[in-house]
Amino acid sequence: MTVADKPTHFIRAKIADQIKQGQITEIVTRFPPEPNGYLHIGHAKSICLNFGLAAEFGGRCNLRFDDTNPEKESQEYIDAITTDVQWLGFQWDQICHTADYFEQLFEWALCLIRQGDAYVDEQSADMMRANRGTLTEPGVDSPYRDRTPEENEALFLKMRAGEFEDGACVLRAKISMSAPNMNLRDPALYRIKHVSHPRAGDQWCIYPTYDFAHGQSDAIEGITHSLCTLEFEDHRPLYEWLLKKLPVPCRPKQTEFSRLELEATVTSKRKLNTLVSEGHVEGWDDPRMPTIAGMRRRGYSPEGIQLFCERIGVTRKPNTIELQTLEGAIRDDLEGRAHKAMAVLDPVDVIVTNWEDDALELDVPWHPKRPELGTRVLPFGRHVLIDRSDFELDPPDGFHRLVPGGAVRLKYGFIVDFEDVDLDADGRVQTIYVRYDPTTRSGQDQSGRKVKGTIHWVHAETAKTATVRLYDRLFTVSDPGRHEDLAACLNPESLKTQSARIEPALDVLMPDAYFQFERVGFFKQDPDSTEGQMVYNRAVGLRDTWAKKST
Ligand code: ATP
Ligand code: MG
Repeated sequence: MTVADKPTHFIRAKIADQIKQGQITEIVTRFPPEPNGYLHIGHAKSICLNFGLAAEFGGRCNLRFDDTNPEKESQEYIDAITTDVQWLGFQWDQICHTADYFEQLFEWALCLIRQGDAYVDEQSADMMRANRGTLTEPGVDSPYRDRTPEENEALFLKMRAGEFEDGACVLRAKISMSAPNMNLRDPALYRIKHVSHPRAGDQWCIYPTYDFAHGQSDAIEGITHSLCTLEFEDHRPLYEWLLKKLPVPCRPKQTEFSRLELEATVTSKRKLNTLVSEGHVEGWDDPRMPTIAGMRRRGYSPEGIQLFCERIGVTRKPNTIELQTLEGAIRDDLEGRAHKAMAVLDPVDVIVTNWEDDALELDVPWHPKRPELGTRVLPFGRHVLIDRSDFELDPPDGFHRLVPGGAVRLKYGFIVDFEDVDLDADGRVQTIYVRYDPTTRSGQDQSGRKVKGTIHWVHAETAKTATVRLYDRLFTVSDPGRHEDLAACLNPESLKTQSARIEPALDVLMPDAYFQFERVGFFKQDPDSTEGQMVYNRAVGLRDTWAKKST
């Protein structure tokens, strides 16, 4: 998609306008995850937006770890986030950590204290909550609110020196306990936590809150557009208040957009963490997880995820996107990208009675429209396997596959004519007998014969056996995010494992390739694969199977 083709949205339009008006010359954005879990599809929206806009307008985008809650954060998450952003196709200008600004933030906190704009409050957490008031009632001033700047500075230094227990006091901004916006009712700026930090180690026992750290970090990095989700809209007055009170190098502007909500999907790191820690999934990269790592393992391409993010657009209107929109984008991308090959998931024997020779090695392209992907050898012979659903003794109307008395094309091979069928004692098809028509070889067919159906198949003697993992929605409900008991909404059929017969070319490790099993769906080799023991994950079916099931 070129820039000109991209659907526009209010943030893109605003930046284009600011540049046109000469208000800005360069844009600087940032993607600021907290390293307390793996990134998910919601983050992909924010990544595509922040990195995408910077790239589009020739600006810069930083990856910033918003690491102000050390007890929940870890190096594992930092590494995973770094990997996932790059895998999605983006490169940061700088990699930053809020922790690297702790000293500067501390200086700015002192600045507020000296100006009389912050105070150390020793009320208990319960008292503070009780005195905060409600949306309809003003709060009550803390008895510690009128301490002198000198007193506050001395106490704050003691906080930093580790002289207080966790929770003994906090540093608060002195704004107003009766502000209609609750975020302005003397919000906490620093709290005491005697825990080591994954990056800063044991240097600190006081940590800034999100509100104190975020805008100031934006200012340090020279961010021009601080893009965040709508739940921060009510924090914007505080963001601006802090920037105005402090001698910051620049005053970034915050713009909010609605977060991605996806049908049948949980997009909260906390809840995803519960799924992992309670063992409902195999890990953060379980292919059923909406994490970037899970989607990668499942076989979604970065370009497919980017296409999805473009298609959903950016607005301020909260809404829930249907899963079909995501799957449609993945399918549309993989269609042009995937190696196409043959695998039979529910095989039935077919004997080509007039084939007397050894196996014929067909040389066929991996993708009919992408010669650069090359070709592979596809053996054909007397004994082939087709999918059980491609033969019907008593076909319904419109069934264009193999039927008694009918003919069908074996893809890349020949047209075969039905001859006979063996049934077992239960009337189930055991072996189908066909004759091939030697004049109809694909690519060399001069026969003029036309058949309605083309089916996939593999050659029985050379086919290998692989494991396929077929995924379905992880939850049975469309709004799992609203259910506190996630375990109760899990879909017991979210993973089905079975074997399949694959053409020999599929028994080779190609970890980076995407595959389309002809007429079955898109697949990716799982990292559990070894040659001879391949494991294929189904990324997405060829069409929306769920919609069909539920009607
Ligand atoms: P979570 O609840 O999953 O932890 P979060 O918003 O707390 O989500 P952060 O790591 O703080 O996660 O988010 C990093 C950036 O990604 C933020 O700018 C945030 O607004 C954005 N983001 C997170 N979830 C979504 C989402 N569902 N849609 C769009 N942007 C999102
Ligand atoms: Mg967060």
